[in-house]
Amino acid sequence: MTELHYDLTIYPDPRLRVRAAAITAFDDELASIVKAMFERMYASNGVGLAAPQVGLKIRLFVLNEAGEPGQGEEMVFVNPTITQRVGAPNLYEEGCLSFPQIYAEVERPSSCHVTWQDLAGNEHERDFDGFLSRIIQHEYDHLEGVLLVDRMSPADKARHRHALDELVEDYKATLAPAKPSKGPSWLPKRAGSKKRR
Ligand SMILES: [Zn+2]
Repeated sequence: MTELHYDLTIYPDPRLRVRAAAITAFDDELASIVKAMFERMYASNGVGLAAPQVGLKIRLFVLNEAGEPGQGEEMVFVNPTITQRVGAPNLYEEGCLSFPQIYAEVERPSSCHVTWQDLAGNEHERDFDGFLSRIIQHEYDHLEGVLLVDRMSPADKARHRHALDELVEDYKATLAPAKPSKGPSWLPKRAGSKKRR
């Protein structure tokens, strides 16, 4: 089986805005995707990662609240649904691997009831609260195309305006057509024309 390796999908990549589709095949490929997602999550120091964050339009997220391989519990949610959110809304500072260096307080209900499938397709359901409930609600948002920037307060959005604009600029730069690496050898090379920004 080929090893998968994923890069993070960073805001404002439109792949983060797509509503992800249900998974129907519980096969080796799905297991490989999950393995590669955990690797990406740990390498990026995350506690949760949703499939759209590695460019996949599928309803899947993984988490480990300990954030370290070999510690905590690795959990895999295939086709999850949050059937109920209960408890007083509370504020908690969230980060997101798709928004490097940006943290903002987000208000969410404290608990949620979730149904999901595991890698074998078996159905599960459970209540979650505390940090796990927080991670699950954040990752579930990704499957609906909802992002940290949508959940932050207007004040936080203003505070992070510059950082958000920089992410947009960085993304636009990735879309720019690649310059030919070499011109004809008889053309003189232009020196010092490259600017960093
Ligand atoms: Zn996120």
